Amino acid sequence: MKLDIILLGPPGAGKGTQAKRLEERRGMVQLSTGDMLRSAREAGTPVGLRVRAVMDRGELVSDAIVSALIGEHLDQEQGSGAIFDGYLRTQPQAEALEILLEERGRNIDHVIELVVDEDALVTRITGRSSCAKCGAPYHDTLHSPKVDGTCDVCGGKEFKRRPDDNEQTVRTRMAEYREKTAPILPFYEAKGLVRRVDGMLPVQEVSALIDSVLDRAPASS
Ligand SMILES: [Zn+2]
Repeated sequence: MKLDIILLGPPGAGKGTQAKRLEERRGMVQLSTGDMLRSAREAGTPVGLRVRAVMDRGELVSDAIVSALIGEHLDQEQGSGAIFDGYLRTQPQAEALEILLEERGRNIDHVIELVVDEDALVTRITGRSSCAKCGAPYHDTLHSPKVDGTCDVCGGKEFKRRPDDNEQTVRTRMAEYREKTAPILPFYEAKGLVRRVDGMLPVQEVSALIDSVLDRAPASS
């Protein structure tokens, strides 16, 4: 029996890392809408041709096309279950996904939300830097070089920061995330499917908490 989940979390919560681990360790398959649209375009399937036409006109791909794509992928995937990322923005989309799964004798077993503390996330992200020479990662307060201003690994003296790693960007993304998930979280709350995991914990601990959710008896069927 397949285990199907939705994995939610704001940028910086480590969602990508956790999804990748679930693929590698549990044989699940991540169904990311962005990736599905790109590969459909390239593959030139009937759905893909429609995707291309819509995107070339600069329009948004409709829910109907996205549903058709998800259906195709659900029929093909050989994994132990699907991980849906946060493409769901509206209740009708959530209901459409439910029907797609039901038609295949499947259902969403868990909605896992990686919860972050916004201020701590700002600190975590804005403090990031890396060695300009070897790329070794550092952090102003959490992991600074042993000798101030000198890379532990290669002795480099220059460090760089990503332009996106600033407070305004982080706060804007958090606001966007809340806005996006606001309509769908209550839908799944009402079904008793939402599990919250502290995304501020070290990666391995977050992984262990997710595992304990997945190893629990499924919600239905
Ligand atoms: Zn270095």
